[in-house]
Amino acid sequence: MLTQLPKRRSFDSRIRAERVAATTTGQPLTVLLVDIDRFKLINDSLGHAYGDQCLSRVAAVLSQQLLRQSDMVARLGGEEFGVVLAQTDTAQAAAIAERLRQAVAAEAIRHPEPINGVGLTISLGVASWRPQEGELPALDPLLQLTDDCLYEAKRQGRDRVVAALLPTGQEQRMSEDSSGPGGR
Ligand code: GH3
Ligand code: MG
Ligand code: MG
Repeated sequence: MLTQLPKRRSFDSRIRAERVAATTTGQPLTVLLVDIDRFKLINDSLGHAYGDQCLSRVAAVLSQQLLRQSDMVARLGGEEFGVVLAQTDTAQAAAIAERLRQAVAAEAIRHPEPINGVGLTISLGVASWRPQEGELPALDPLLQLTDDCLYEAKRQGRDRVVAALLPTGQEQRMSEDSSGPGGR
């Protein structure tokens, strides 16, 4: 197995379990989507075997950076990873996501066309749900929001974090600092 990480099914069931726990504790729940930037270029110019090595290294960095016992990182498929952060609000999670981004960049993993001249980079979408805002009957809205944030991070140029909060029926854009939505 390439990365040793749990897969999509474990990821989904962990989110379901943490959703139930959050309803009891009243604590927020946050999900991250992590996607390697321009990974296709890596395979195309440096080869698939090297691409596989990159996946292992990114998986290892993400795992090392997540400190709580309850934190979970999964490989959702291809070059996309998911992270579940229980009892973590949007601001805390955005800070953790930023730490993940920096830790991957700091590895300076060779990339044919680095976004910011260092090496391989990742983009991250972050979405949180607070039980106070109302029930979360299905996972879809939370996962959809995480996906939207990731898409937005890619659209804004990659190698960045975009975070959002999911109250029932209403999305509220946030970022980890004051430089505006998607700020780094
Ligand atoms: P973006 O910045 O928009 O995410 O661009 P990208 O090139 O990373 O995205 P795209 O989805 O176009 O390409 C993802 C690539 O990941 C395509 C596929 O060849 C590669 N890939 C998926 N799974 C594996 C794998 O297990 N090993 C390797 N080496 N490559 C993989
Ligand atoms: Mg990608
Ligand atoms: Mg992808």
